[in-house]
Amino acid sequence: MSESFTHDVLVIGSGAAGLTAALNLPSDLKVAVLSKTRLDSGSTQWAQGGIAAVLDATDSVEDHVRDTLNAGAGLCHEDSVRQTVSAGSDCIDWLIRQGVAFTRTEDSTYHLTQEGGHSHRRIIHAADATGHAVSQALCQQAREANNVEIFENRVAVDLITHRKLALPGNRCVGAYVLNRDVQHVELFKARFVVLATGGASKAYLYTSNPDGATGDGIAIAWRAGCRVGNMEFNQFHPTCLYHPQAKSFLISEAVRGEGGHLLLPDGSRFMHRFDERAELAPRDIVARAIDHEMKRLGADCLYLDISHKPEEFIRTHFPTIHEQCLSYGIDITRESIPVVPAAHYTCGGILVDEYARTDINQLYAIGEASFTGLHGANRMASNSLLECLVFGRAAAEDIASEVSNVPQPPQVPDWDESQVRDSDEDVVIAHNWDELRHFMWDYVGIVRTTKRLQRAKHRVDMLHSEIREFYSNYRVTNDLLELRNLVTVADLIICAALQRRESRGLHYTLDFPGQLPEAQDTILTPTSFMSKTA
Ligand SMILES: Cc1cc2nc3c(=O)[nH]c(=O)nc-3n(C[C@H](O)[C@H](O)[C@H](O)COP(=O)(O)OP(=O)(O)OC[C@H]3O[C@@H](n4cnc5c(N)ncnc54)[C@H](O)[C@@H]3O)c2cc1C
Repeated sequence: MSESFTHDVLVIGSGAAGLTAALNLPSDLKVAVLSKTRLDSGSTQWAQGGIAAVLDATDSVEDHVRDTLNAGAGLCHEDSVRQTVSAGSDCIDWLIRQGVAFTRTEDSTYHLTQEGGHSHRRIIHAADATGHAVSQALCQQAREANNVEIFENRVAVDLITHRKLALPGNRCVGAYVLNRDVQHVELFKARFVVLATGGASKAYLYTSNPDGATGDGIAIAWRAGCRVGNMEFNQFHPTCLYHPQAKSFLISEAVRGEGGHLLLPDGSRFMHRFDERAELAPRDIVARAIDHEMKRLGADCLYLDISHKPEEFIRTHFPTIHEQCLSYGIDITRESIPVVPAAHYTCGGILVDEYARTDINQLYAIGEASFTGLHGANRMASNSLLECLVFGRAAAEDIASEVSNVPQPPQVPDWDESQVRDSDEDVVIAHNWDELRHFMWDYVGIVRTTKRLQRAKHRVDMLHSEIREFYSNYRVTNDLLELRNLVTVADLIICAALQRRESRGLHYTLDFPGQLPEAQDTILTPTSFMSKTA
């Protein structure tokens, strides 16, 4: 018999969102925090730039709200933007109290930088490794908190709801979780469950995200009956290093800012054909131009060249990029850097309200897995970590106010493995992973057409049926679970993209290049898809 655990609150995910929720819960509640691998896995650890908040006397909440609304191309929910931005400076104070050492200026105030789309200096940061500093501080606090129990190497498989147990009501009471160390599925019961599983950029061949970004929480919530919103808005970073051994290494936009040229394989520049600002055009225009040229030429990558600048300048301005590229045999002071655009951020996700509550009672979703309405059709840089903090805290406060009304979870059966056996065909999983990420890149990437989306839909439907068969016959593994979730999330992205008959923000289709007069969210409801994706 496999192990079972009971807590007051089960937090699935240990990035900025999950740990913020866990650490803001009342200390008399017993909390479990799950992480797929190590506690500091997830995108949080890799965030470079910083966190946007109104921290300077010359800045204002109104200005931060306006900038966010402008970036979101008419689709941001203004109430959500206002809620997030207003709570910014409180959340930064809280992070400082947790031990995050943000970079200071010579007069000891905090140093603020400015990024694309922001009209003020408002990005607080810890050098160029903000995510690392946030993650390390929060992980340490979580390890020291007496009421928080940490479970690493645990992969949530599916939620347990009253609906699944054939009980009345619409309540979530826990999750089945694969323990990767012993390869057994365990039972985690809880009065409240918080999904904080991050984004889904691994659905694409090239991504800046770490391995676990497979949209698990979104797929899990969808299977349990939650609505999802705006899944068609995937943000692509224009320049990720293209090298067989390099995984997810970003070449900062500052390289273009400091005079770097984007080049075709024949060494010629091309950006001026797409935008008069050439290499300094906004990120989505640059990403689209690179994608267009790669597809036109059938090229595997294009190039970013800064080697015309003095060697000393390059070494002092870009020490990490210089060093990393050198480790792959590329000397950026002498040669150009092979680059491809890479999936970077999932703007859509599980639909939630201002307290991060989903469609199922006692189930919350926070961070990149959620859809709060903050980002609209395009995320503004450094607003995402802020969203993790604001909604992580909102979920904790709502749980604290509700806890006395919520009973202990009911009896739940153990995971049933009696009908399944070990897989002897793991090659099928590996093959399907590759196939999915390739067709998502080619057909559902930066520039879309209806025909390409329909092709992708056809393939994803076939993958669904193969995975369903695999899932019913074989013991679950992490790879199988991730693939199952990726197929579901890919389907949601394709369906949302097919529904949007316009180009807006990050969604660009050659068939509908204009923008409709009225901005509307794409909300998908599980009942209409359930038979296919369950
Ligand atoms: C390279 C890079 C640079 C970035 N720079 C910035 C920046 O400067 N500023 C900014 O605001 N944003 C930035 N972002 C985006 C930001 O980092 C993320 O949006 C944010 O960290 C997401 O936090 P999260 O807590 O929602 O999820 P994550 O930090 O991704 O954490 C997800 C957690 O869920 C766990 N998990 C996932 N699935 C399961 C499962 N099935 N079972 C159990 N656990 C599971 C993982 O193990 C992990 O612990 C950047 C992202 C990247 C990749």
